[in-house]
Amino acid sequence: MSATIPAESVAGNADYRPLATIEGVRLDLRYASPDNFAGRDLYSPLDCGFLHRDAAGALAASADWLARERPGWALLVLDAMRPQRVQEQLWAVLAGTELERYLAPPERGSIHSFGMAVDVTLCDASGRELDMGTPFDCLDERSHPAYEERLLAAGAIGRGHVENRDLLRAAMRQGGWHGISTEWWHFDCGDRMAVRATYARIL
Ligand SMILES: [Zn+2]
Repeated sequence: MSATIPAESVAGNADYRPLATIEGVRLDLRYASPDNFAGRDLYSPLDCGFLHRDAAGALAASADWLARERPGWALLVLDAMRPQRVQEQLWAVLAGTELERYLAPPERGSIHSFGMAVDVTLCDASGRELDMGTPFDCLDERSHPAYEERLLAAGAIGRGHVENRDLLRAAMRQGGWHGISTEWWHFDCGDRMAVRATYARIL
């Protein structure tokens, strides 16, 4: 069993870094508002705008690349560290529905709960969120990077949406992040098995 840390201790622990201090990164944590599929604020009063410093460094590298490619643009973080207790609340909302495949079951846990995953999109120089073809947490196939060619051919998403996603993926790749096949907004820092074995779980 790997180590754990209470979410309340993250802000005072040097292993974790507040994302608001990273240039080119903006925050709009959707689980800290009612604007999410649970329909309520799951984070307050806890500040979840943190990642493990390894992941925060990777995000800074991605933001640097983006600033060179698109001056004035920013990475907009939609979710970062997600305490295990919140993962359990999200699971309670989706368990037993066909949507549960989008969520790691609590016993396995999410890479977000190690501060090593991020949900992110892009903002242009005017601060406008780019259109990725679906909103964040749109839990259907239009969000699946694995189906983009088919979705494009069927007209379910447009060429511009894929170009925007490609730019996001290129920026994230520069920092060493890996996307997944089912959510255009989700990226892991490092290998999932290694993260679960090496990093502390945030409770
Ligand atoms: Zn995610």
